[in-house]
Amino acid sequence: MKKNEFKQLLSWMIIIFLLFLFVRNMRNFQEVKEVPYSEFKQLVKSGTIQEVKIRNDIIQGKFFDVSANKTVNFKTNRVLEDMKLVEELEAKNIKFSSELDKGWFWTLLLNFGPVILIFLLWYLWTKQLQSGGKQAMMFGKSRAKMYSGKNKSETTFKDVAGCDEVKEELKEIIDFLKDPKKFQRLGGKIPKGVLLYGPPGTGKTLLAKAVAGEAGVPFFSVSGSEFVEMFVGVGASRVRDLFDQGRRNAPCLLFIDELDAVGRHRFAGIGGGHDEREQTLNQLLVEMDGFDTKEGVILIASTNRPDVLDPALLRPGRFDRHIVVPVPDIKGREDILKVHSKKVKLDPEVNLSLIAQRTPGFVGADIANLVNEAALLAARKNKDFVQMEDFDEAIEKVVAGPARKSRVISDREKKIIAYHESGHTLVAKYIPGSDPVHKVSLIPRGPALGYTLQMPQEDKYITSKNELLQKIMVLLGGRETEKIVFNELTTGAQNDLMKATEIASKMVTEFGMSEKIGPWSLRKREEEIFLGRDYLTKEKLYSENTAKIIDEEIKKIIDFASEQARKIISDNIDKLHSLAKRLMEKEVLDALEIDKVLGLATETKEVKEQQNNEQQNKSEKS
Ligand code: ADP
Ligand code: MG
Ligand code: ZN
Repeated sequence: MKKNEFKQLLSWMIIIFLLFLFVRNMRNFQEVKEVPYSEFKQLVKSGTIQEVKIRNDIIQGKFFDVSANKTVNFKTNRVLEDMKLVEELEAKNIKFSSELDKGWFWTLLLNFGPVILIFLLWYLWTKQLQSGGKQAMMFGKSRAKMYSGKNKSETTFKDVAGCDEVKEELKEIIDFLKDPKKFQRLGGKIPKGVLLYGPPGTGKTLLAKAVAGEAGVPFFSVSGSEFVEMFVGVGASRVRDLFDQGRRNAPCLLFIDELDAVGRHRFAGIGGGHDEREQTLNQLLVEMDGFDTKEGVILIASTNRPDVLDPALLRPGRFDRHIVVPVPDIKGREDILKVHSKKVKLDPEVNLSLIAQRTPGFVGADIANLVNEAALLAARKNKDFVQMEDFDEAIEKVVAGPARKSRVISDREKKIIAYHESGHTLVAKYIPGSDPVHKVSLIPRGPALGYTLQMPQEDKYITSKNELLQKIMVLLGGRETEKIVFNELTTGAQNDLMKATEIASKMVTEFGMSEKIGPWSLRKREEEIFLGRDYLTKEKLYSENTAKIIDEEIKKIIDFASEQARKIISDNIDKLHSLAKRLMEKEVLDALEIDKVLGLATETKEVKEQQNNEQQNKSEKS
């Protein structure tokens, strides 16, 4: 126990003691008159005693004082030799009872118990405060993790793949921190703040750690949410403390992860205004203005919501360098796969570039997850190496959520799902140029009952109107099939309809693909309506009349697409039946099997091989 704490303890004890005395006195406020035993006996005889309690050592009671005309409490030491006391009391009809001596332990407990209890509680409370966070008593300290010296970040740029441009830009900052003079010599200005932004899981936090590992300067990392506290002023003082720490350790790097937690637009949200977060944000702005890169302090922040940040944060002199951390492309995915598959034992047959091809849209975190899943699947099958098929299974798992093989589906349900999925597949197969169908399956995964897996052959950044229409047709293919085959509708198509409607509405309101509406973006910033500033300032972007036209246009697209889908299905109804039949048998069909059922397999490998073999045979014969 430190001296300081001891003093505190002592003063607490004194306070409690005084309180105790006070309470004691209150209890004894009624005066008790001590009388000699002889006087007590007289009182008994005179009949003025009202009540008596006899204890081992003393007798307490009340008598009526005639001269003062009031009841008086009294006590007297008991004389044990007086055996007749009880008889006398009975003769005078005085109410009496005996009270057992409680013994010293109980007396002590009753008197000091509450004090001890309070003391104990106080002790536990301070104890807990001390253990929760090193210095929880000092609320205002920033909780930045510091990486330097022995505690250095182990992550380097080698651990981050697929974002070379980002690394290039960050390298400049690392170089500056290593040798600030080199940059200042030419009068170049180094940005004060760098904002990394991009979708979740693209490796922003990882990049910041890698910068720390590479730079070799002290690095303070803190998450934006740690500034958001219940008590007003705490966040602001934490910000101040973070920058103080930075200045003391310059040259160094400060990193604020998830900046949007503190940096949201001021006045945003219901009941916005002067709240804790705004104070914190103001403090952050003040601190950013208050330091100079000459001091050698650089601030990096990350966010996946740059749109909700307060514009003041992005102004020159603050976070004025913005670096996009993009979703990796096919090459990037392959590189990330290489990084992560180093940690597992790979079968030499595994083709990472093929896996990269099959995982469009995956971000770094997904790929890390994928490799891990594949390794787990291989381990479950007692393999020594992770094989391609494990990756295939893992991809589906990551794409469609964990398999729910245990779910029981009735035969009729299975039939409906088989036709529904066959419908999707058929439409996808018979629209020229649509994404190839990789697999169709009845095994439920995630929220979908069955699924048709379409994979684009390459990454696409631009999609044409025609492609969007085709997507809608494929989506509606399931429902149209149900209508044609079973002449009724089920709820199974709900998700398809939702997606189809979403695409159609984007075509009309965002992509300018409707002739009636024209090239006019009517996109609402929907995310911000929830708690965003638009809650207060939301304006109508278009008139009632336009809204009506939009609805009509969306409906027109959907109607057209479902008409097309219906046509494809009824034109190929035989193929639909055989596809659904085969699907019910095997539950899963891959691309080759689909082609075989549809009689499109002439160009496939297997057939080619057969043909080759035949040719060889022929040539050998001749
Ligand atoms: P963010 O902060 O952008 O949401 P993280 O940096 O937390 O994403 O990434 C989560 C995990 O995903 C990382 O720990 C890493 O394993 C993996 N990861 C993400 N991007 C990459 C990448 N470019 N290279 C290698 N691994 C990555
Ligand atoms: Mg992160
Ligand atoms: Zn469907």
